[in-house]
Amino acid sequence: MINIAIDGPSGSGKSTLAKALAKKFGFSYVDTGAMYRTIGLYILRTGTDPHDEAVVTARLPEIKMDIEFADGVQHMFLCGEDVTGLIRTSEIADYASATSKMGAVRAFLLDVQRDMAKKNNVIMDGRDIGTVILPDADVKFFMTASDEARAVRRQAELEEKGEKVTVEEVRKALSARDEQDRTRNIAPAVPAEDAIMLDNSGSFEETLDRAVKIIESRIK
Ligand code: C5P
Repeated sequence: MINIAIDGPSGSGKSTLAKALAKKFGFSYVDTGAMYRTIGLYILRTGTDPHDEAVVTARLPEIKMDIEFADGVQHMFLCGEDVTGLIRTSEIADYASATSKMGAVRAFLLDVQRDMAKKNNVIMDGRDIGTVILPDADVKFFMTASDEARAVRRQAELEEKGEKVTVEEVRKALSARDEQDRTRNIAPAVPAEDAIMLDNSGSFEETLDRAVKIIESRIK
């Protein structure tokens, strides 16, 4: 199977690139952030303190998470309910980030993600795909973009979903979440040693073009 890993901070354009590459090469796009967000939603709904590791860990066995693909879109099910459209808020992102630094939460998702990559050609995006989940991936990208470009992009996405936030508010929230993700003890969001850095501050078409050429050169 061919496995392509894309890591990088929030709003750097990972999912846009991953979707375009999945379409171009006919691979499955696996969004691992959506899995952490689904756990975050459960923690929020149950009124659990997302920083209380003992309680969050104890709740994990209650979570029945299913992942289905329909027309190339990854649907997340939480205890039978399709929550795909409910997890893209900034509140859920904060819950996901707080709980994703816990060992039990990461262990809960590790096998699911590895199993998907074993059975399918995947483009998988997240924070630790190249470092922890798929250390032998055929290609590893680490995407970056300027703080301004990331905030503008994420604000537009949130606004489209009806969340009223300013670019400055988004910039602050992203930088707090990135700091938390980058400095955690387990699976910190840092580039793998053999990751190819992709700066996506400018034209997306150029980033895509570069990524396509790199993949084509590696997977003849
Ligand atoms: O990518 P997305 O913004 O949806 O991820 C939400 C949060 O989930 C991140 O801020 C990060 O804390 C966590 N995450 C992670 N490892 C991954 C994917 C996401 O820790 N592979």
